[in-house]
Amino acid sequence: MSRGFPLFRTTSPVAEAERAAILGAPGFGRFFTDHMATATWTPADGWHDRKVGPLEPFSMHPSAAVLHYAQEIFEGLKAYRHADGTVWLFRPEVNARRFARSARRLALPELPEEDFLTSVEELVRADAPWVPDSANEGSLYVRPFMFASEVFLGVRPAERVVYSVIASPAGPYFAGGLSGVTLWISSEYTRSGRGGTGAAKCGGNYAASLAAQIEAKQHGCDQVMFLDDTGGDGSLEESGTMNLCLVTSAGELVTPQLGTILEGVTRDTILTLATDFGLTPVERSITLAELRAGAADGTITEAFAAGTAAVVTPIVGFKGEGYEFTIGSGAPGEQTTALRERVLDIQYGRAQDKHGWLRQV
Ligand code: PMP
Repeated sequence: MSRGFPLFRTTSPVAEAERAAILGAPGFGRFFTDHMATATWTPADGWHDRKVGPLEPFSMHPSAAVLHYAQEIFEGLKAYRHADGTVWLFRPEVNARRFARSARRLALPELPEEDFLTSVEELVRADAPWVPDSANEGSLYVRPFMFASEVFLGVRPAERVVYSVIASPAGPYFAGGLSGVTLWISSEYTRSGRGGTGAAKCGGNYAASLAAQIEAKQHGCDQVMFLDDTGGDGSLEESGTMNLCLVTSAGELVTPQLGTILEGVTRDTILTLATDFGLTPVERSITLAELRAGAADGTITEAFAAGTAAVVTPIVGFKGEGYEFTIGSGAPGEQTTALRERVLDIQYGRAQDKHGWLRQV
């Protein structure tokens, strides 16, 4: 039985001139392509009604469970156009597996990996003209998501669920990204605790991070750096949408261990590439005290954040209640810049894909 996502092409695509104007300055997450993928799940029929059709609003009953209990998960990955015009996804299988893990944590039905990959590929293929060229770090950001649409106010796993994929052309994530960001270390808010949903990519985690993000902006910082929930001088976890990586004078690339953080695709990519740069990858807990001491005595030489949207973004300083400090000279580090270039070179087909990470659409 075919498990494809058949294409029902829109009869009213965005005009070519308008699309070209959008692709000239897409920003992030504001403009959307002509199509969307969808599928529906019920206990009786499992996953069904798979298709790629015109992008359109959902019609939802006001009691739909997602609107009340946030039973929802999502993913984020990108399609890249290579110099020869071909379009490629970067490690989409890893996103598919993470999506399945998130589904289990949120008591949503698992979407088979094959359906995830087919839906993403079919949508990107249908909307291929929306994939920007590689100039200026352009890409097509792809957003698969799943939510409880059952008409029922009881608190239990929903018995009607919608899966969908939309896509949005993207330029660089942070306007001044390359000159580095300063992170606010919140002592007020945490994003996860043991047994919680920190490792899942669910909407509620992001809703809960917004108050901390406001606090960060009020202190002149770009993003939040969350500590664990042990209080006081806890361990570093991750930023709002990025994993934390440190480079030490001992030649280590240190990143917080898994557990209550999101297992980032970029994080794993960096850990794998580290040895190419003479760095030993280390996954362990890093306390705030260690970060402050290491920044002061020079044993922590570089810091950066890793994520699909921001790729590798240098962290040049941290601020918290009553203190602030820079990392190294307060400018982006050498290894950070080299790792960033390598990841982009692989994604855009300029470096050899030794690990088989690219998948042509
Ligand atoms: N942490 C959080 C909380 C995130 O939202 C993201 C973005 N998905 C990341 C880390 C980085 O993950 P990835 O490299 O898979 O984009």
